Amino acid sequence: MKVLITGGAGMIAYSLIPLLLSGLMFSDEMIDLNLLDIDFAKNRLEAVKMEIEDSNFPKLNSLIATTEIEVAFKNIDVAIFLGGFPRKQGMERKDLLLKNFEIFKSNGIALEMYAKKTVRVLVVANPANTNCLICDHYSPSIPSKNFTCLSYLDQERLTGLVSRKLNVKPKNISNLIIWGNHSSSMVPDTNNLLVNTNLLNTNLVKINSEKCVLDNDEINLVKNRGSSVIKKRGLSSAMSAANAIMKHMKVWFNGSNDKIVSFGIKTNNNYNLKNNLFVSLPVTTKNFNFEIVDNLNISTIIKEIKQSVEELEEEYNTIKNKLN
Ligand code: NAD
Repeated sequence: MKVLITGGAGMIAYSLIPLLLSGLMFSDEMIDLNLLDIDFAKNRLEAVKMEIEDSNFPKLNSLIATTEIEVAFKNIDVAIFLGGFPRKQGMERKDLLLKNFEIFKSNGIALEMYAKKTVRVLVVANPANTNCLICDHYSPSIPSKNFTCLSYLDQERLTGLVSRKLNVKPKNISNLIIWGNHSSSMVPDTNNLLVNTNLLNTNLVKINSEKCVLDNDEINLVKNRGSSVIKKRGLSSAMSAANAIMKHMKVWFNGSNDKIVSFGIKTNNNYNLKNNLFVSLPVTTKNFNFEIVDNLNISTIIKEIKQSVEELEEEYNTIKNKLN
């Protein structure tokens, strides 16, 4: 399996590469790994390559570290987009969108020109949802269902919180959902929570919903977790982001066994939300495909979900004149 990671010299890549090359993402598949970064990071990229060579990872078949787009995108099966322009102090959200527009336009065009038509894409670099929309727009011959953006980290943050609150191991918790944008407007949802109460892994029950209702402080903890990490670390989440990327790809590839997970995907008449935006929604997955779960009762949270989708519409309006 040929996997491209852009931003290959960055922090998340540094945590992600060992997970990928140890077989945690794509099980037994051998990996041809292409790392792309920009000229500015050439030395750091070379050093990452050296460290990979010194690690003798069991699933590595071949390795390319390059700053050339064509070399990086040629015949890829999977693209994980970490490379982007970081938000600098004093920078408006709009400026960040416009800076990243050019990068994701170029990623989209390169996918169209060089990648396999079956390529599966995960966008992580922020603003992830709108970057994903741009990329999809510039790859018209690749199905939109092959494009996703990351909300799994938000889902993991919610799972961790619920696990601590209920004193249940995270592996026994499922069907927690993140709706909306990957921003503080997201809507964490515990209404469909399932807890496995028996160790034989067969007895999934819907627990007393009162027990898992989150108060405002808990909801805000999930929504603002990213900023809290930045405040303390001085840098954005990298280890947990890599872990979430690994789980997103793994569950997409291997299937979710009918459990619900949250993927940022293109809307298509779902829950009366505006169409053609990339929004975090509940899905089930199988064989590197997903199906949207579109029959959940969201009457108590629909207002918040719509607000988060409005934010995505504003992001879209900022860049729509540039899309051609
Ligand atoms: P980083 O700054 O450490 O690394 C980014 C790398 O991208 C750098 O090496 C940079 O040189 C490279 N880059 C810049 N422009 C590029 C381009 N055009 N092509 C290829 N590479 C390019 O950042 P990081 O900590 O690895 O985070 C990566 C991105 O992920 C950031 O945008 C961050 O905000 C985002 N992020 C998203 C989530 C999420 O849940 N969606 C979580 C954490 C971080």
